[in-house]
Amino acid sequence: MRLVLNGSGASRGKALGRARLEQPSRFLVDETRLDEADVADEMARLEQALDSARADLRALRDKLRGPLAREVAEFIDAHSLILADPEFVNGLRDLVVQGRFHASAALKMQRDSLVAVFEAMDDPYLRSRREDIEHVIGRVQGALSRESSAEERKLASRVGEILVSDTVAPSELVPLAEHGVLGFVLTAGSTLSHSAILSRSLRLPMVVGAHEALSHLQDGDLLLVDGDRGEIIVHPTAQDLAGYRQWQRDIAQQGKRLERLRTVETRTVDGKAIALHANAEINADVAQARASGAAGIGLYRTEFLFLQRKEPPGEEEQFLAYRDLVLGMGGLPVTIRTLDLGADKIDSAGLALRDEPNPALGVRGVRLSLRTPKLMRTQLRAILRTTGYGPVRVLVPMISCVEEIDTVRALLKDCARDLRSEGHEIADHFELGAMIEVPAAAIALPGMIRHLDFVSIGTNDLIQYTLAVDRNNDELAGLYDPLHPAVLRLLALVIATGHRAGRAVAMCGEMAGDTRYTALLLALGLTEFSMHPGHLLEVRETVNALDHGALRRLAPKLLRATHRERIAELVGSMRVEVTATPEPLESSLD
Ligand code: PEP
Ligand code: MG
Repeated sequence: MRLVLNGSGASRGKALGRARLEQPSRFLVDETRLDEADVADEMARLEQALDSARADLRALRDKLRGPLAREVAEFIDAHSLILADPEFVNGLRDLVVQGRFHASAALKMQRDSLVAVFEAMDDPYLRSRREDIEHVIGRVQGALSRESSAEERKLASRVGEILVSDTVAPSELVPLAEHGVLGFVLTAGSTLSHSAILSRSLRLPMVVGAHEALSHLQDGDLLLVDGDRGEIIVHPTAQDLAGYRQWQRDIAQQGKRLERLRTVETRTVDGKAIALHANAEINADVAQARASGAAGIGLYRTEFLFLQRKEPPGEEEQFLAYRDLVLGMGGLPVTIRTLDLGADKIDSAGLALRDEPNPALGVRGVRLSLRTPKLMRTQLRAILRTTGYGPVRVLVPMISCVEEIDTVRALLKDCARDLRSEGHEIADHFELGAMIEVPAAAIALPGMIRHLDFVSIGTNDLIQYTLAVDRNNDELAGLYDPLHPAVLRLLALVIATGHRAGRAVAMCGEMAGDTRYTALLLALGLTEFSMHPGHLLEVRETVNALDHGALRRLAPKLLRATHRERIAELVGSMRVEVTATPEPLESSLD
């Protein structure tokens, strides 16, 4: 029966696919013993479920296309091998025939004992293979408990999978996408997590905070995930599917409309030029940045190079990745951020401290880099070596005091000297900037700014630290408020301080790519935005319809407002209310 589950949209778009539950152990398991007379029927159910799981895998394999097909096929083959393994299958049969367990209980017992074997292994790679067992057992459990109609099964066999889980780590996203996962439904998680950010880069819809998903869904259920509305339709009707097809047509239409903006300048109606840069995590972002006419890369998150591996990448590997990025941007400026591991960017290279009581307030970002100078030198050397290939800026995350900037600058100079003496071509001048994402850095910026060449405001963290609201805690989503007066005053302070000192001020948090805030940010004086490239054309369309001068005149009123409702009302009116009296911005910051 059709069912709608709700959460929050963390990555836009829609996907139609089969549910794949990450916790197959949550399947309903009947622990009672079978009557002797029912054993044969139960055996037949089990055999049928095993056959159906094998057929699913064969169908999945047949559908594989594209550059990753071979790697994905390897995983599918590994799963097929488990299903063909006589020890695995006979173990299940024995449990049903001799133990008189229900098939679901036999599967659970088999899973528990195999997982225990994998978990006892020292080798982390082998340990991680327990996931395969989970997926195979989940698939058979799904086949056992499948409730869907024949028609739905036919449709489901033609679509890919939607992962349903409590959470998903950023490091798991790429392999999951490569396995053909089309979207994510998470019971926990937040729209600002790094998994959500990466999911947007991979252009896969994600709904987070769908608390009931694991308890209401079965493996194999047909799902229509709507990342725009934060909604999951289970067993969609013909009408839902027609709506989905209409959405696909609308997206193509919208794409055509925005397409025209690819080569257009970003300039307000009164002629103020605004720079729109792109954030990038993976190669596809760079291609999309170029295709959308980005002014450059405003934030390259290097930590994604460090995920999913046992050892951190060496200088040469990093150099090649950064150089390709710089070359890929064809002479446009590229801002490379030094490593920001820690907190939710769990690294498999084993660099970040484990089990910190308060990871978001712990050893992350520049704090981690400065504790591991060898690692930082390696990264700075790799970045500096790209300065001969195009305009490159170095951006440092989690700066909270001027001493951190001075230390990084000294390290940079040192590395540049070494590289030059080794014969590398390094640009004479390279810019060093700080992420302004810790309130202390924003407040102390007037004293810090002359130590910096530019700043970039990281609103994702700045909001969480200013409001003491964990960006990853969906329970607090209502309190995570970009329009809080404290946030607006900090933004205005940072922008005004930077500009007064003649420094470039960019914003690279999610707020910069959200058209609901474009007018507000222009009003506060922001002229350089950096966002996911998928949002760039919409933001350009918005900027090009706004009057910069009129918005600037509204800023004092905005900064004096004390209540959220009033602020939201002012922000909402910004597109029409364009005739306020001028007033100096600084006076409202006192
Ligand atoms: C931010 O904090 O706004 C930011 C851009 O950095 P990240 O999301 O990688 O923490
Ligand atoms: Mg940040």
